[in-house]
Amino acid sequence: MTRTDFVYVCRPQLPEAEAIAAYIRQIDASRHYSNRGPLVRQLEERLAAGFDRPAHAVRTTSSGTSALEVAILAKAGLAGPDRPLALIPSFSFAATGLAIERCGYRAHFVDIDPDTWAVDPVALAAHPLLDQVGLIVAVAPYGVLPDMRALEALHLATGVPVVVDAAAAFEAVLDHPGQISASVPMSLSFHATKTFSTGEGGAVLWDDAAGQDMVQQVSNFGFFLSRECKVAGTNAKMSEYHAAVGLAMLDGFDARRRDYARVAALYTRAAELCDPGGRLLLPPRVSSAYALYEARDEAHFLHAERVLLDGKVETRRWYEDGQHTQPHFRASGADPLPVTDSLGRRLVGLPMAHDLAAQDVAWVVRLLRQASGAGPDAAEETAGGRATTPA
Ligand SMILES: *Cc1c(COP(=O)(O)O)cnc(C)c1O
Repeated sequence: MTRTDFVYVCRPQLPEAEAIAAYIRQIDASRHYSNRGPLVRQLEERLAAGFDRPAHAVRTTSSGTSALEVAILAKAGLAGPDRPLALIPSFSFAATGLAIERCGYRAHFVDIDPDTWAVDPVALAAHPLLDQVGLIVAVAPYGVLPDMRALEALHLATGVPVVVDAAAAFEAVLDHPGQISASVPMSLSFHATKTFSTGEGGAVLWDDAAGQDMVQQVSNFGFFLSRECKVAGTNAKMSEYHAAVGLAMLDGFDARRRDYARVAALYTRAAELCDPGGRLLLPPRVSSAYALYEARDEAHFLHAERVLLDGKVETRRWYEDGQHTQPHFRASGADPLPVTDSLGRRLVGLPMAHDLAAQDVAWVVRLLRQASGAGPDAAEETAGGRATTPA
């Protein structure tokens, strides 16, 4: 059994030059480089068709963070003096908190449910600070979509605009397009580390034609059908070059998903042969961009990170210990966050890639077993013990 030298936590592979070339030639011919050119429109139409939704349901952006910003500006507008707070889960990537701040809100961090990883809409509807809250942002952590119907009900009950940072949830939406809402916009990221990528890019999914016109306006300096800046906006437009990459990526996406499913199955199989001593959270429960390991406690988590690194396996704390522990957000308000604190110190981001090798997956799982304090497996003994060394 041979292994590559080092197993990276994330090794993206976007379409190669030949796959993009035909689209780039269309740009050369049209001399249309940005501002909702033909390739951007084609990408939006193909994505909307893939979600089985009308074309207006998808508007692309320059990044996932800008998608969240423009969704907030289009749905809620800039923060006002009476309602300066945004309720947001701490359990997310720092982009969530930064996006709400760009729109003038101050973060108040809330906790999540330990099983669904989602904010609790019923608890938020009765939040003691609600009369100062101008925005609620829910998150799809690791691509796990929150219950959109419950968030629509939260919006209806409180009158507070709700937006979802669904950055990593591309596949979840493909599998459950009914989750696209007419009243709660969601943002996707097409960053290289996500499963569907344009290099940098994103989209707002929202089944509201007028709302999406506003997304378009906000994304283009507040202009709409004229060069007058009429609303608070920014430049969040996707270029034709990024759309070219996205179109080529879409051409190969079915095959890409099959490859990811194969790697997820390798993890499942490896864990059957060699008990890793903790739960693996794999696609399709999470986005195919992730494989996660849930350690028992912080000591086990730190030990597992160390054992994996010594075995030349890279890991990542994708959300660190939650946004509330990031230096920039330390002064922000927060509820007690026991679930976020616990998950942040127990979830190990494991290597995941569409072309991860079987022996690398087996090696990762074997190291996890070693870190869990269990002895070698029966299956391993009969196979002749450790087949590889970390060196
Ligand atoms: C990836 C990610 C983002 C940021 O998206 P970009 O495209 O990198 O701007 C925001 N939120 C979450 C939860 C993410 O996973």
